Amino acid sequence: RAKREGRNNYAFYTESLTEKSVANLKLQSALHNALETDAFHLVFQPKISFKTGKVIGVETLLRWDDPLLGRISPMVFIPLAENIGLIQDIGRWVLKKACEQGQRWHQQGLEFGRIAVNVASQQLQRSSFVDEVAEILQQTGLPASSLELEVTESGMLSDPLLVSQYLARFGSMGIELSIDDFGTGYSSLSYLKKLPIHKLKIDQSFVAGLPFDTHNTAIAKAIIAMGHALNLKVVAEGVETQEQADFLIASDCDEAQGYFYSRPKLAKELTDYLSAEKPKQLS
Ligand code: C2E
Ligand code: MG
Ligand code: MG
Ligand code: MG
Repeated sequence: RAKREGRNNYAFYTESLTEKSVANLKLQSALHNALETDAFHLVFQPKISFKTGKVIGVETLLRWDDPLLGRISPMVFIPLAENIGLIQDIGRWVLKKACEQGQRWHQQGLEFGRIAVNVASQQLQRSSFVDEVAEILQQTGLPASSLELEVTESGMLSDPLLVSQYLARFGSMGIELSIDDFGTGYSSLSYLKKLPIHKLKIDQSFVAGLPFDTHNTAIAKAIIAMGHALNLKVVAEGVETQEQADFLIASDCDEAQGYFYSRPKLAKELTDYLSAEKPKQLS
């Protein structure tokens, strides 16, 4: 009705706002049901060592296919899950499934280094999270030395002191910690030094312009140099081309992940990939 009355009518805005909130409500209620209706599945993307050309890790990425709404990006539904209080349940589900899969690969004799799981800011801020991780490792049998957690800078901002205590507990269990999307947040260099972390993942927005964009080449090199100065490994995400890989190798980056090596794959496909694994030709 608002549309018939013309676009300059305030009713148009009312309707479009209503449409938006209806769509948002549909998304929310679909997300509420996603766990029970088996609408989630995981995909896995290998991380390659620049030193050996071998798979040294596998990142777990969550996929949501709703029967009516189709595929929704985790960039949309993870923040939504945080807003509506679902992230703890979803996060626990992802961690459990990822650890089960890692343990299955172990039992099949396949080497994958560490299985990495993304941790949302809100998960990290709960004191019970460390115990939850320990419990899942125990239930699934995955050794802590086969697990990596990817946290974001924003995850550490709210209460850096508290979060760094949690992170230290992970470290003492033998779990590795990476800062994901590094360079897009606000980590101050002074507390980066104090955090018990092992790796920086250069955000893909900086990798995208390599090797031609002069800002991105400077940023990538600076992150690598700083990471190494702090004794951290540096991983580049979103590597899509040989030229990017060559630049990163020449800049002494440690590891890479991206479509150039492999797209995220279903567990079964990644099992085949790991079974067939030969060291990648690096340059
Ligand atoms: P992220 O952790 O930084 O993951 C990397 C994203 O880059 C993934 O997008 C991956 O599919 C994509 N990617 C990998 N290689 C390339 C490449 O060569 N080029 C390009 N253009 N993209 C590449 P995805 O799967 O859509 O995930 C987006 C973000 O959603 C993730 O970013 C992560 O922050 C979040 N996310 C995904 N799964 C989970 C999860 O289980 N838990 C939490 N808390 N967050 C998740
Ligand atoms: Mg990640
Ligand atoms: Mg990332
Ligand atoms: Mg990212």
